[in-house]
Amino acid sequence: MHEMALAESILEVVEQAARAQQCTRVTAIRLEIGTLAGIEVSALRFGLEVVLAHSLAREARLDIDTLEGEGWCMRCSQNVPLKALYDPCPSCGGYQIQPLRGTEMRVKEILAL
Ligand SMILES: [Zn+2]
Repeated sequence: MHEMALAESILEVVEQAARAQQCTRVTAIRLEIGTLAGIEVSALRFGLEVVLAHSLAREARLDIDTLEGEGWCMRCSQNVPLKALYDPCPSCGGYQIQPLRGTEMRVKEILAL
């Protein structure tokens, strides 16, 4: 389950950040997930609940922002919104689209005490 592995790597990032700031308790974690990243948010939330339960982030609030996907359509020569990878262009119906935005997942902010 790829969301579980992802949750574990997020925990690592959070723990490192907390250690670097000499904090003992993480109060909030904000993630940004692109709609084209192929991540199922509910599965990731579940995975995080499991891995954070015994960490210094066990009481942390979890905020997940979604980043809408966007691609470059070669036929239209313009940026177009993209709901999923390999979707056709909403203007011309073509498939020659280069994803530009929304394929990433990152830890945006960590609040710790
Ligand atoms: Zn197009």
